[in-house]
Amino acid sequence: VNTNVDLPPVISHIPTDQKICFLTIDDGAEKDPAFLQMVKDFRIPITMFLADIFIQDDYNYFTQLRDTGYCTIQNHTLHHPDMPTLSAARQLSEVTGQQQKLVKTYNTHPYLFRAPFGNTNKATQEACKQNSLKAICYWRASFQKQGFQWQAADKKLRPGDILLAHFRGPKANGKGWPEMHELMTNLFRIVQQQGYTFARLEDYV
Ligand SMILES: [Zn+2]
Repeated sequence: VNTNVDLPPVISHIPTDQKICFLTIDDGAEKDPAFLQMVKDFRIPITMFLADIFIQDDYNYFTQLRDTGYCTIQNHTLHHPDMPTLSAARQLSEVTGQQQKLVKTYNTHPYLFRAPFGNTNKATQEACKQNSLKAICYWRASFQKQGFQWQAADKKLRPGDILLAHFRGPKANGKGWPEMHELMTNLFRIVQQQGYTFARLEDYV
């Protein structure tokens, strides 16, 4: 991905011929201990886009995920607002504020951004640029309770797809939700059935 451009580009996939895809998991609301163990067992690279409002009750859960060596931490704003509805100054404070928190809390320097709800405008790109964020990551398929919601009509993965999932489960989302590790088992099965493997997004951007 060419990030040597004037404003950080919005990307939804990585150009490649290989049957690889990229798992991104957003927000941080559900904190399932069994998922932590699953990450260690499955050894699947995951990019976590974390918003402070969802993780502030337990920063340590994400420290533990980071410490597995399979999960990286990237920027998803402080309060998860719909960015284009905010002024440029408020967008900047959402991005900068979260960047500073992540640097301080996790001693890591995020360089990717995901906009809440995927919504961006030029001020979002400017705010990312000012924080040295190189790309804004959109997605080509999003994973819901009942499976993937595909952008592609044939409901198939394509090489280089960026996949969106969330930290969700019964504690954060209420009874009726499977545990996070059960949701992810389902996701892994679908990806495997289609003959794909996971790669690390940060190795390509
Ligand atoms: Zn989000």
